[in-house]
Amino acid sequence: MAEKELTQRTAWDKVLANLRKRSLWMLHYCTGCGAVELPPTMTSRFDMERFGIMPMVTPRQADILLITGYLSVKTLKRVILIYEQMVAPKYVVGFGSCTINGGMYWNSYTTIKALDRYLPVEMYLAGCMPRPEAIISGFNSLIDKIGKGEANSWKDYYENYEFYKKNQDHVFGDIETHHDVPADGRYFGILEAKR
Ligand code: SF4
Repeated sequence: MAEKELTQRTAWDKVLANLRKRSLWMLHYCTGCGAVELPPTMTSRFDMERFGIMPMVTPRQADILLITGYLSVKTLKRVILIYEQMVAPKYVVGFGSCTINGGMYWNSYTTIKALDRYLPVEMYLAGCMPRPEAIISGFNSLIDKIGKGEANSWKDYYENYEFYKKNQDHVFGDIETHHDVPADGRYFGILEAKR
């Protein structure tokens, strides 16, 4: 019986994943110069919408949070508040070298150097700046991962919240978030096993 339930749940998960991968709404937080590559990617020349990826204006209805470049410490605070308002499953995409290692701002005291120390990054798009072909290729990889049920970095934010919170606090002290993240983790059933 348990095996039958598991099979049914797996089949349902596959259906959900297939539906989800074809309808991804993206909030783009355009902080850096690389954002200029997004208009050609999203308009007729490369037409990102043919893959089911659409721009979204509110975090509450977005699946993807795209960070297009360097983040200052002040901006990071806003980005975290936005991320925590998004409904899981949700995917952070770091766009450009600045999100990976600080890029050309690697020694600036006002910017953070590695986005994945503060938020669970599902995918990085390397380059300064990544061209539309690279963006499309990267998003196709993400779509494949979502379809296979392998895009699960968002769970890491709940499972290892102490790691992220420690790094967040290190750069700007205690912040008030809009959400009780551990409570969210319990809601999604991710933290149940640990309680
Ligand atoms: S990676 Fe390059 S293009 Fe992107 S924000 Fe940094 S400096 Fe600008």
